[in-house]
Amino acid sequence: MIKPVKIFREFLYPSGIKCIVCDAELEKDTRYGVCPNCKLPYNENYCTVCGRAIPAQNIICDTCKNTVLPFESARSSFVYGDASATLVHKLKYRNARYLAPVMSEFMADTYFSTEWNVDAVTCVPIHKSRMRQRGYNQAELLAREVATRIKKDYSELLEKTVKTKNMVKLNRVQRMELIRGSFGAKFGAEICGKKILLIDDVLTTGATASECARVLTANGAESVNVLTFASVAATAWLA
Ligand SMILES: [Zn+2]
Ligand SMILES: [Zn+2]
Repeated sequence: MIKPVKIFREFLYPSGIKCIVCDAELEKDTRYGVCPNCKLPYNENYCTVCGRAIPAQNIICDTCKNTVLPFESARSSFVYGDASATLVHKLKYRNARYLAPVMSEFMADTYFSTEWNVDAVTCVPIHKSRMRQRGYNQAELLAREVATRIKKDYSELLEKTVKTKNMVKLNRVQRMELIRGSFGAKFGAEICGKKILLIDDVLTTGATASECARVLTANGAESVNVLTFASVAATAWLA
């Protein structure tokens, strides 16, 4: 016989709920859907400008000391790697769209830990040929979910006008060169005078976010802040 307690539990926490990282059955549901064995790498010591992980004693990473960025600041919930990389990969390449609402819970928490007060939420767009291929833009899924959670409007402000090759093997300068001029403001987008929150899944060198922010600023945005699910540790990118 099933005990009433069990029935009640079953009602609150339907069985079959799985850890979003390793797919292990969860004993109970949590807001974040992660089992005790999977530890997500929280981004605790980060550069106050680009938001990438740095040694605890530092405040600004070496790149930000020598560069003027077109966005005010960037933050990310996690350091990219292990479990956080698994989630990003599933969302981006394995059609795991169901992850976007859970991942955006962490991102909304990170947003609320900042002093930002934005007017509009947008995302890093992908080229329409890639959209056809993949069927969705993972950054858009995250942006829409984050916008709901922070109670702001989501709007499509940018478009990817030029298809660019994979940047995995390129350093920051090469990425900046490759990506420059490949984004444009969407026709009729209301950008002027707006404080914009730009969303992406991962921030690596910041080249993509910088180029998007440059276009938004050139079109009159008052400010651009960047929020990503994860970012690559600044120490991993000394170039
Ligand atoms: Zn797990
Ligand atoms: Zn930095």
